[in-house]
Amino acid sequence: MSKPKIAVLYVDDERHNLYAFRASFRNDYQVYIAESAEEGRAIMTEHEIPVVVADQRMPKETGIEFLESIKKSHPYTMRILLTGYTDIQAVISAVNLGNIFRYLQKPWHEEEIKEAINSAYEVYDTRVQLIEKNIELEKAYRELDKFVYSASHDMRSPLMSILGIVRLSRMEQDLSNTEKYFDMIEESVQRMDEFIKNIIGYYKNNRIEAKDTTIPVDVLMEDVLRDIDPKLKDADVALKTNYQLHVPLVADRVKLHIILTNLLGNAYRYQKQDAGKCINIRATVTDQFAVFEIEDNGIGIADDELEGIFKMFHRATNNNPGSGVGLYITKDAVNRMGGTIEVSSKLGIGSIFTVRFPNKPIPVE
Ligand code: ADP
Repeated sequence: MSKPKIAVLYVDDERHNLYAFRASFRNDYQVYIAESAEEGRAIMTEHEIPVVVADQRMPKETGIEFLESIKKSHPYTMRILLTGYTDIQAVISAVNLGNIFRYLQKPWHEEEIKEAINSAYEVYDTRVQLIEKNIELEKAYRELDKFVYSASHDMRSPLMSILGIVRLSRMEQDLSNTEKYFDMIEESVQRMDEFIKNIIGYYKNNRIEAKDTTIPVDVLMEDVLRDIDPKLKDADVALKTNYQLHVPLVADRVKLHIILTNLLGNAYRYQKQDAGKCINIRATVTDQFAVFEIEDNGIGIADDELEGIFKMFHRATNNNPGSGVGLYITKDAVNRMGGTIEVSSKLGIGSIFTVRFPNKPIPVE
């Protein structure tokens, strides 16, 4: 795939200059033209413009004034000035104030302009990448913070329970109670294991490189079901599936596995105690997209909790056995697949989680 062209805005009050500029550079760049500073600013609010070239001599606002005016609203856009006359003092101060990246003399030379635009874009691109990396880094820091907090709580509390139970059983005279203590210890160990599994899922999601393969949906679902904690898989739950597979599914198997294990695990975990427990799994795969729906008739989620459930370590109900990491990881994985996740839920009635992502037509095996 060829790289998208760099968007360049050229502002000049003389129409023939604008047309000449567009004719000279349209093959190399995505050229926008504006007859005035005002028109230039309007274009910049609508399009992402990495490089702006302005003529100095314009009737209402000079090129320097225009470039200065966009500095605040578009701090990363690179500004180049074209000047036909020797207003050298104004140009020097504009360069020194950091209002322009380069100034070029008229009449322009195509190669000179291209060199200036390309160098300007390199600086722009580096800055944008730096900002993106910074955002990622800040996110990683925030997650680390929450992780340390949660690890100290979620990993210590089952350990503390085990310790308490061990101490209690030491003092126990009646040996018939031992079974009960073992059950309690097992439950704590399982809670801790669930937490650790979630962290491993998070790690896989973040660190393992994405790889698209053809995925047989029924085999995938069998794998997913096998991976769900056997203690959760209540035999009373009726599991129904409905797959509409018009073309093969091509996606990142590791991520999809993480997503479905979490959603299906929750569908089992948050069942009501009544009879008639039911989970429906629906999958539709077309040449454009794939949709997975996991529906349960469990405890449901209150309206005011819905927004929070995708946040890290968020639990919608107190006293619940989970770690509050699953849906956060799920959403992250869906985002990384270029997809969306939606939930519709009614307290006491049940929930439907819908995941939609692009199906890749050509498998990369
Ligand atoms: P947890 O490990 O606590 O299950 P998740 O991130 O998977 O963490 O889910 C966050 C919260 O959302 C859960 O604690 C639970 O309160 C709620 N939740 C998730 N899925 C369901 C569901 N299918 N039915 C009811 N509540 C759910």
